[in-house]
Amino acid sequence: MTAHPDPGRKLLADADARTRQLAANLDRVRTRIARAVADGPASRIPPTLIVVTKFHPAADVQRLVRLGVQDVGENRDQEAAAKAQDVGVPEDHPLRWHFIGQLQSNKAKSVVRYASAVHSVDRPAVATALGTAMRRAVDETGRDDLECFIQVNLGPAADVAAGRGGAAPADVLPLAALLADTPRLRLAGLMAVAPLAADPGQAFETLAGISASLVARFPSATGISAGMSGDLEQAIAAGATHLRVGSDVLGPRPGVG
Ligand SMILES: *Cc1c(COP(=O)(O)O)cnc(C)c1O
Repeated sequence: MTAHPDPGRKLLADADARTRQLAANLDRVRTRIARAVADGPASRIPPTLIVVTKFHPAADVQRLVRLGVQDVGENRDQEAAAKAQDVGVPEDHPLRWHFIGQLQSNKAKSVVRYASAVHSVDRPAVATALGTAMRRAVDETGRDDLECFIQVNLGPAADVAAGRGGAAPADVLPLAALLADTPRLRLAGLMAVAPLAADPGQAFETLAGISASLVARFPSATGISAGMSGDLEQAIAAGATHLRVGSDVLGPRPGVG
């Protein structure tokens, strides 16, 4: 049951082994997504699949583009900037780079050059820096605005205090107001990573609750970026609109566990 038009399929006959492997992995992930969507309410809109390419080379991004992938995610500016430069702008194919890692304000200028979306806005200084960078780079990037997701820390308060990424739930609405008021930033919604010690389904339900209170104030901020290789089904069940899937498409990350 592959309901997806796959522009890469035609090319597979003469594709390299890595491309065929990525195609097979992508098929499996897309099938899992389709099943999880089918298990939900009929009104459920299929989420956007962001393939997380961190630690994998630009050549893999090019292979993914040939396989029809339009959204890729990266978590470190230095690596992402170089990769985006290597890949360039594919002909006749939209490719969006999503920045999903912890962001320091001084990287904002670089990130806005290649990223269409930042999923990890977690404090006012980052929002302000992204707004300034967008306004300065508007001619360079050719983009009117930057999609911004507020990363929420769903772990214990100690995780927030330790700076492990993500705003405390109580800080979401003020940060959303700042994003909504900043020209060239578009408040897209929320992002979270399920805490290690928690049940992902429960964590994503908590996120959905915070999302509902965000949408009550900012009706267009309906995005929910949640779900990775290990928990995408639970994220879809909780209403995720964007999935960030790395290892189940690309395999284990080189040089990491
Ligand atoms: C690496 C990463 C992912 C992808 O994780 P996988 O388990 O490899 O699918 C998703 N979100 C964030 C924030 C990441 O850093």
